[in-house]
Amino acid sequence: MAQFHRIKGTHDILPQDARKWRYVEGVVQEVMQRYNFSEIRTPIFEETALFARGIGQLTDIVSKEMYTFLDRGEKSLTLKPEGTAPVIRAFIEHNLGEKKPVHKLYYISPMFRQENPQAGRLRQFHQFGAELIGSPAPEADVETIALAVDIYERFGLKQFTLKINSVGDAACRVPYKEQLQAFLRPRLDKLCRSCQERFEKNPLRILDCKEEGCREQTAEAPRITDHLCEACHHHFEAVKTLLNRLEIAFEVDHRLVRGLDYYTRTAFEIISGSLGAQNALGGGGRYDLLAEELGGKPTPSVGFAAGIERLLMVLEKENLLPEFQEGPDVFIATLGEAAKTWAIPAARRLRRQGFKVDYDFMGRSLKAQMKEANRSGARFALIVGDNELQAGEVVLRDLATSEQETVAMDTIDEMLRQRTASQS
Ligand code: AMP
Repeated sequence: MAQFHRIKGTHDILPQDARKWRYVEGVVQEVMQRYNFSEIRTPIFEETALFARGIGQLTDIVSKEMYTFLDRGEKSLTLKPEGTAPVIRAFIEHNLGEKKPVHKLYYISPMFRQENPQAGRLRQFHQFGAELIGSPAPEADVETIALAVDIYERFGLKQFTLKINSVGDAACRVPYKEQLQAFLRPRLDKLCRSCQERFEKNPLRILDCKEEGCREQTAEAPRITDHLCEACHHHFEAVKTLLNRLEIAFEVDHRLVRGLDYYTRTAFEIISGSLGAQNALGGGGRYDLLAEELGGKPTPSVGFAAGIERLLMVLEKENLLPEFQEGPDVFIATLGEAAKTWAIPAARRLRRQGFKVDYDFMGRSLKAQMKEANRSGARFALIVGDNELQAGEVVLRDLATSEQETVAMDTIDEMLRQRTASQS
């Protein structure tokens, strides 16, 4: 039979990696909670229209990257390519806005995009993200930026840069777009094919193209921050002042844009010096017009999303992952049938006491069991033979020091409690 393989662009997370994932998710949750963000979990798939509308028709994600399929009722469904539209859909659907004015929500979830797989670019990947829903204040922008920065700092990351920009709002972006198009029109034939396609509907994205030729053509392009309306200008200044007050270092990057109409004002990105071509750890911004686009009431909001695979790559590279002690507390090794019969209920009793316990399933010799105990990373071995059993005793062996002592069976729990407490 032919073997099955995982789908290109997906990863199996094997046990030695799963603990790194648990660690990362734990730290993310801890910092999210310190900022008083609450977790929200939305389904893996949604109606296709949520993303087709929510992300806008012209992004790469919608035009070619979504995993879209028909279910048996011929309804078009899509595996979620991003987290914001589902969160806002849930926010509207459950009338959360009526309960209190501001909601702070976070998620950790797989996402799906049919991209060309490469280092740091997968088809199933994972993001953590946060959405501060309901506030137009610059403090809200800074809250989400500080949250993202603090997550990376809590991991000990040093080589990362925060970039910010403002993309204006419906009022100032329209005239800016026209200015930008006027600047680009004579240069159109020198832009890459994708940028030529972007020219009519999504010209801001041309600023953000990574092609050398396009970057040259746009080097002198008008900057949106020079064309902000009064309100957007004040908002951007307030964000920068607050970041300075928090001593959060940032660079203003005029190329940082989000081309879609529902994005407003602040855009930000965090990039790592430890990653290659795919160096964006996460990004976000304000999206005051999205809730309305999804059929809800006007709800100014700001949020970010960040990739977990890329964060793990940086943590590995910068040697920032802790040592994990994953072996059991105790491995029970037995000699003889009676001892084996004793071991299974003894293991269960110890497990119910809170110890992590394992034993042999292969009917192996005592020597082989001890080898297995060492390989498992167990701290202690409990060694029981028929003689010990009759005497009501077991041998407790410290596998790190190889010291061992004989202890009464009814004191095992207490002995283990003392020993494991003194070691951890
Ligand atoms: P985006 O939702 O495109 O703004 O992406 C936010 C973050 O998610 C990026 O900065 C990456 O860290 C991560 N990310 C996006 N797409 C992928 C992907 N295909 N594979 C791995 N990580 C990704």
